[in-house]
Amino acid sequence: MGSARGEHPEDEWAALWGRAYVEFAATEKRSWLEQQGVKFTPLVGWAERGDGRAGGHGNSVPRFHLPWGTGTGISEPFADRVRAAAADGLVTLHFRHRVDDLLVEGGAVVGVSGTVLAPDDAPRGVSSSRESTGEFALRAQAVVIASGGIGGNHAKIREWWPERLGTPPATMITGVPKHVDGRMLDIADAAGVRLVNRDRMWHYTEGIANWDPIWPAHAIRILPGPSSLWLDARGRRLPFPALPGYDTLGTLQHLRTTPDIAEFDYSWFVLDQRIIEKEFALSGSEQNPDLTGRDLGLLLRGRLGNGAPPPVEAFKQHGEDFVVADDLRALVDGMNRIGDGILRYDDIERQVLERDAEIENPYTKDLQVMGIRNSRRFLGDRLFRTVKPHRILDPAAGPLIAVRLRIVTRKSLGGIQTDLTGRALDADGSAIEGLYAAGEAAGFGGGGAHGYNALEGTFLGGCLFTGRVVGRSLVARL
Ligand SMILES: Cc1cc2nc3c(=O)[nH]c(=O)nc-3n(C[C@H](O)[C@H](O)[C@H](O)COP(=O)(O)OP(=O)(O)OC[C@H]3O[C@@H](n4cnc5c(N)ncnc54)[C@H](O)[C@@H]3O)c2cc1C
Repeated sequence: MGSARGEHPEDEWAALWGRAYVEFAATEKRSWLEQQGVKFTPLVGWAERGDGRAGGHGNSVPRFHLPWGTGTGISEPFADRVRAAAADGLVTLHFRHRVDDLLVEGGAVVGVSGTVLAPDDAPRGVSSSRESTGEFALRAQAVVIASGGIGGNHAKIREWWPERLGTPPATMITGVPKHVDGRMLDIADAAGVRLVNRDRMWHYTEGIANWDPIWPAHAIRILPGPSSLWLDARGRRLPFPALPGYDTLGTLQHLRTTPDIAEFDYSWFVLDQRIIEKEFALSGSEQNPDLTGRDLGLLLRGRLGNGAPPPVEAFKQHGEDFVVADDLRALVDGMNRIGDGILRYDDIERQVLERDAEIENPYTKDLQVMGIRNSRRFLGDRLFRTVKPHRILDPAAGPLIAVRLRIVTRKSLGGIQTDLTGRALDADGSAIEGLYAAGEAAGFGGGGAHGYNALEGTFLGGCLFTGRVVGRSLVARL
């Protein structure tokens, strides 16, 4: 609740959803998921440590749970039940049917119409053909919009970019597949559905271009441990709480609203081999073949063995945003080669030396160094995520590494306003007969259950919760 940062009048339902989600997450969420067949790894991450205030933004405890099987580990048990129902003739699946319109009669939504797209067996995440082979119309007792957010549509992101986050970057890289285009939200809007908080969004500042892309401008987000030095495009250390893994939107705001850096679309991590080996995790199921493939041997070898996990090492070798060098001068030269050539070696050296001196100071006045030590008080981080404090310039920890970090688009926090049963509302705030919304399209509940901010890892949970609520409403109604 400390993360939501206030309410405005359109948050009437969102605030109730936020509260209901927290109650669900704190009580039956885990046991309910386990009953559905979802399994969790014992690894619990400590994401989004917050802004340093006891009552402010952030996770007070590690609570980022990883399902065995990553995203598909969550979705497959549900998909299996739908497939079984389809095999029993209870469900009909209409793949390659793109909804272009809601059918509205007498104020009630009675179905959908749209375009039948040409067959395409593109793998998951790869953009598929939009060639039309015909049209369709389907009528139903109820329609549920679960069409996701707008993260794959940069034009929409720019259109709704909030003033509080400064100016949108001139270039962004994309953290979701192309089908996350927000088109269905505009279709709902045109049909009289009430959309709220469209200017609330969650994009990461630690994006790197995928050297082996699946979708256009495919970006991967680094889930960083706490030790990398974070510099702006001009080579200045970012101020607290813009530390790796602390405050996603606070950091985005800093980068986009500070006048002399807002013209740049990137910042820098400076680290060393020892840090990358333990502290770089990459988001995305294909970047975690051990967890996605439920391969315990690969997991232990990759995460506890020597060297960086293979997907991280592949980025280090092939990624266009990586510079690797044996000494700091060569590293800064490399950063200037792939950046704008404005970094001054003396500035960078001074800041690395300052930071390194504080690592050796048992008391330290450096907040990041304090955070590194605090992180190691949690056994999970000590074992898997936070490297033993050491000097970045220690030759035994080398080579040195710099990573150019760009803005990676991801989540929409606003969307279709729904009441606590998941019914979509109209402009007057009345429930629209026959229409429901769930998931990111509904702002994870009520059109923005997170408020102005969010906590890492609460998105999928909100999708599951809103989906469950809508499912139960349909059972009660139909
Ligand atoms: C790489 C990655 C990592 C993530 N990691 C995490 C994490 O660790 N924790 C977390 O909580 N969240 C995470 N998220 C976010 C989370 O996965 C999403 O918020 C969530 O999957 C959204 O689910 P959804 O069902 O609402 O929408 P989506 O999964 O986007 O599904 C929408 C579906 O609707 C279809 N659709 C859209 N428009 C139409 C139309 N007009 N007609 C027919 N079909 C249409 C789309 O094709 C798609 O199949 C991550 C997201 C990504 C991309």
